[in-house]
Amino acid sequence: MQLSEQQIDYCMECGVCTGSCPVAMELDGFSPRQMIKRAMKEPEGDILSNPDLWACLSCSRCSDRCPVKIDFPAFIRSLREKARHQENLPKLSHHGMFHTITSIQAAQIEQDQVKSDGSKPDQVKSDRPKQDRVGWAKEAGKISQTGDYFYFTGCIAYYDVAFEYLDLKMIESARNNLKMLNKMGIRPVISNDECCCGHDAFWCGDEKTFEILAKKNIETIEKSGARTVIFGCPEGYSMFKEAIAERFGPLAFEIRHMTEFLAEKLPDTDLSFKADSLRVTFQDPCRLGRRSGIYEAPRQLIQMVKGCDLGEMEHNRENAVCCGTTAWMQCSSCSKVMQIQRLKEAEAAGAEAIITACPKCQIHLTCAKKNTDHDLKIIDLVSFLADNLE
Ligand code: SF4
Ligand code: SF4
Repeated sequence: MQLSEQQIDYCMECGVCTGSCPVAMELDGFSPRQMIKRAMKEPEGDILSNPDLWACLSCSRCSDRCPVKIDFPAFIRSLREKARHQENLPKLSHHGMFHTITSIQAAQIEQDQVKSDGSKPDQVKSDRPKQDRVGWAKEAGKISQTGDYFYFTGCIAYYDVAFEYLDLKMIESARNNLKMLNKMGIRPVISNDECCCGHDAFWCGDEKTFEILAKKNIETIEKSGARTVIFGCPEGYSMFKEAIAERFGPLAFEIRHMTEFLAEKLPDTDLSFKADSLRVTFQDPCRLGRRSGIYEAPRQLIQMVKGCDLGEMEHNRENAVCCGTTAWMQCSSCSKVMQIQRLKEAEAAGAEAIITACPKCQIHLTCAKKNTDHDLKIIDLVSFLADNLE
C-alpha cells in the first residue's frame, strides 16, 4: 500500500492512532504509528519479521480517526501478505481449526476447477464426500434452489460444533435468520456450494485462498439468480462490500446485512415483538459499525421489542471497542483484558444482557465471562427478535 508524501509527513508528527488503539493500551511496544514509521525508514525485511504485525485487530478504530485517512488495517494487511513468505506467521487460535476448514474448501475448489478444465482429471477423487451445508435449514424452515434472495450462511455451522463447550448453540442464529425471513414471506436460496467468505484468510494475508473462495461464492450466487444477498454475519457482509467488490466488482447483486434489511422491512409487516422486562446494551461489531457504517439499524431493531430497555456502553458506535480477537488468531491475555473491560462497561450501563449482531463477538464475550462473576447474557440480535415474536 502506497502512502502519499503528505500522509507520511503528517504521520511522523501525529500519533492519534496509537492513542486510539485498544491493543496499544495493553500490549507493550505495540504502536501503529511506530509501525508506519519503521516501514518507511527501515529496510522492509525488519518490519516483516516483527511478530507484532499480527497483533492488530483490523478494528479500524485508528483509521476512523486518522486525520490524513491512512487505512492502517489495509497497510498492515499488505505487510502480512509479504511476511507470510518470510515464515512470519500468526498464532492461530483453536488449533488453527477454522483456517484448516477454509484451506480444505479452497483446495477442493481448485481441484474441481482442474476437473472442469479436463486437464488433470486423474487428480480428482470423484468419491470425495460433499459437505451438507443445508441440512440445518431444511429442518428449520423453507428454502429455495433459485430465487431473488440468497441467505449467506457463513461458517456458523462449524462454530456450532466448536463452541458447544461454551453452551452456545450457534446454528440457532442461522435458524432464526431463516425463521425471520420466512415470516416476512421470503424463501431464500441457501446453497450447498457456498463456501467461507474468506475473511480470515484475507486478514491473515493469504491472498490466494481469499481469491479462490471469493470467485466460487460469486459464481454460486450468480447461478442462483439472486438479486439480493442477505448476510447474518458482519464479516461476510464487509468482505463482499469491500474486498470482494473492489477485487471482482461491480457485483451483479445487492448485498444487505440482516440488521439493515430487517430495520427497513419490518415496519411494513404486522410482526411485533415483546420481551420480559430486560435492560440491554449493544456491542457494535467492528465489521458492521466502523467498517460498514451500520450503527442505527441494530438499535432500531432492539427498540422494536416491547419490554426491552436499551442503554449504551461508554464506548459505543464509532468509539466502540472490538471484542478482542479477529480472524481466529492471536487470542491472548490482551484479548481477555479487552473483553473483560467490555463486560464491565456493559454492567456500568446497567445492562443484564449484551446484544450483538456478530457470531464472533457472541463467542468471544461468552468465552470471556466464563469462570468470572460477570453474570451477563450474551445474545444474538436476530435470535432475540425471533424468540420474542408476539
Ligand atoms: S493517526 Fe494517521 S497520521 Fe496519525 S500517526 Fe496514525 S496513521 Fe499516522
Ligand atoms: S486497527 Fe484497531 S487494533 Fe489495529 S492498530 Fe488500529 S486501532 Fe489498533
